[in-house]
Amino acid sequence: DTPTIFCVGMAGSGKTTFMQRLNSHLHSTAKDGKKPYVINLDPAVLKVPFHTNIDIRDSVKYKKVMENYNLGPNGAIMTSLNLFSTKIDQVLGLIEKRDSDGSISNILVDTPGQIECFIWSASGTIITDSLATTFPTVLAYIVDTPRATSPATFMSNMLYACSILYKTKLPMIIVFNKCDVAEAATLKEWMRDFEKFQEVLRNDPELSGEGENSSGYMGSLMNSLSLMLEEFYNHLDVVSVSSYTGEGFDDFMEAVGHKVKEYKEDYAEERKRVV
Ligand code: GDP
Ligand code: MG
Repeated sequence: DTPTIFCVGMAGSGKTTFMQRLNSHLHSTAKDGKKPYVINLDPAVLKVPFHTNIDIRDSVKYKKVMENYNLGPNGAIMTSLNLFSTKIDQVLGLIEKRDSDGSISNILVDTPGQIECFIWSASGTIITDSLATTFPTVLAYIVDTPRATSPATFMSNMLYACSILYKTKLPMIIVFNKCDVAEAATLKEWMRDFEKFQEVLRNDPELSGEGENSSGYMGSLMNSLSLMLEEFYNHLDVVSVSSYTGEGFDDFMEAVGHKVKEYKEDYAEERKRVV
């Protein structure tokens, strides 16, 4: 029954730094000596800034995969994940063995910098599904807040999050990271108040064509999309954090609590039918 957290998000959004901070947060708030169990699934990362219990780099040598199979960076990530996923039953065995004595507080999973290699690959699906059928699993979708403050980038980021939700069928927490650099208050308001967001769209000269109304193609497309997103937002928990200062991590763990409950009530049954 150990909550499992997958960190996903675009390259450079801060997944690894977030994992590092979450790991130390869980160590310092641990009750009964329970510790997080940490898994790194990024084969291409040079240095992992936290202690890992399972590291894909121990079993798969990314550089060798590139050379042996004559692959570019993304192909090599996918092939590394394929090789790793063939051993997923052993991996699950290891986790379950450690979990059975009740010494694990959470399972944390870091994913490749290039998210699409993971989310849209067969092996990524095998890995997430294997963990998600055994443990209550939630996704932390990490957003680079300073880079998501224009309405258009914000919208495309949220659409991406939405597509990941459809693909994985797992409860999701939106994590506005890097709040030491840019506040997420406006973005949160856009998610809460959809008319506010449409007003912003209308007033954005880049999107509305003439700058006064949303008669431009982009403007009207974004208007329709924002209606769709309103429904998506209803299913999310939203928090803002700084992986640098540690701000917001109590809120994040509270959101994990909500989502684990949701997982047990809604997603577990749903997944049994789909998977
Ligand atoms: P990943 O590719 O998603 O794993 O991203 P990384 O964790 O490697 O981070 C990408 C960059 O963002 C690095 O330069 C980090 O130092 C920086 N970064 C991550 N989290 C924060 C944060 O909370 N605040 C600030 N200011 N920078 C951050
Ligand atoms: Mg990373």
